[in-house]
Amino acid sequence: MHEQQGASVRELMAENAALRRQLASLIDQAESNHAIMMRHQAFDLDIVGAASFQELVATIFRQLPIVSSLDIVTLSLVDAGADIYTVMHKLDVDFEALPNLLFHEHAEELGFDLEPGRPPRPRLLPYHPVSHGMAFPQPPAGLASVALVPLIRNRRVIGSLNLGSRDPGRFTPLLGTDFVEHMGSIIAICLENVISNEMLKYIGLTDALTGVYNRRYMDRRLAEEIARARRQSYRIACMYIDVDHFKQVNDSHGHQAGDDVLREVAARIKAELRMSDALGRFGGEEFVVLLIDADLDSAGIVAQRIRASVADQPFLLPEGKGLPVTVSIGVAALDDFERSHTVEEVAQELVAQADGALYEAKQNGRNQVVAA
Ligand code: GH3
Ligand code: MG
Ligand code: MG
Repeated sequence: MHEQQGASVRELMAENAALRRQLASLIDQAESNHAIMMRHQAFDLDIVGAASFQELVATIFRQLPIVSSLDIVTLSLVDAGADIYTVMHKLDVDFEALPNLLFHEHAEELGFDLEPGRPPRPRLLPYHPVSHGMAFPQPPAGLASVALVPLIRNRRVIGSLNLGSRDPGRFTPLLGTDFVEHMGSIIAICLENVISNEMLKYIGLTDALTGVYNRRYMDRRLAEEIARARRQSYRIACMYIDVDHFKQVNDSHGHQAGDDVLREVAARIKAELRMSDALGRFGGEEFVVLLIDADLDSAGIVAQRIRASVADQPFLLPEGKGLPVTVSIGVAALDDFERSHTVEEVAQELVAQADGALYEAKQNGRNQVVAA
């Protein structure tokens, strides 16, 4: 009787010890899952809070490999006509700092099964250098398995999130895709949101016809630059540029040709400027240039270059004929800051001086530069 009891107590104790071990391992597992979940939640919050395209993409590349223990993360974006690339470039996104950001003209290039009516699924599979060369142009040594996750908005594939691991068992066709799908949908929403915000920002700052800045932007920038120039005592100069007899271009060749001339004039002005200078269309056939750290003489030299680059090469009309175009330019500079005036007053005065000089250039016969 005692022996029997002793045996069952020992059994119970062994069972108990086994249960405790199981429990401890479950708790370990739960804690580790919890830690992973917390890391992913923090990541989700970071990308939802990203204020710009650059910040979002840089956050994904910096944090996702760490939170998800991956050896490489790349992002392919569908960008028909390079609209996204062009706008982000104009908004000064530093693409050199984002080598794993890839652009594709068509969604078909991403390699998903694009059957109408059925959203494409993530593809989890062994890494293959040839078939995955587009998603991983610079793969890390030993890359063994990959997940290609479609980014979908409004049933449209807007890109692909590409995850890679040196662990061959990390992504296999038999694994569930819930987790990567969740990550893909959050990233897709964030991308779409940030891209449309940047596009709006861009539209609000630029002139639709010529792609240079608009007047609203130039007014703000002028005020900012004057404030900074006052603090750091450097000089700024301003040019007011007006196309000569532009009404005749419209009258003789049509409004469309007039628009083409405006675009080409803007491009030729831009080609003579430095990165730090700002070019804006102030309306009609009038452009304003803001030159940073330039005095009246150096601004005059740049203005002469612009005048010559417009006048020396006739513009090409659609029917192949050449059209001579000239511009008149007024230049003004600020080097001694009138501290008693507000930034806005100084800005207005600077532009008014350049405009006054332009008026003189017109009076003197056009196709010339006059300094205030
Ligand atoms: P001036 O040498 O004295 O500057 O003569 P101008 O003919 O250039 O000057 P004016 O101000 O009389 O004419 C400007 C013309 O620009 C009139 C207007 O129809 C035209 N214009 C304004 N905005 C646009 C535009 O967006 N596209 C086109 N094609 N024409 C425009
Ligand atoms: Mg005018
Ligand atoms: Mg004019």
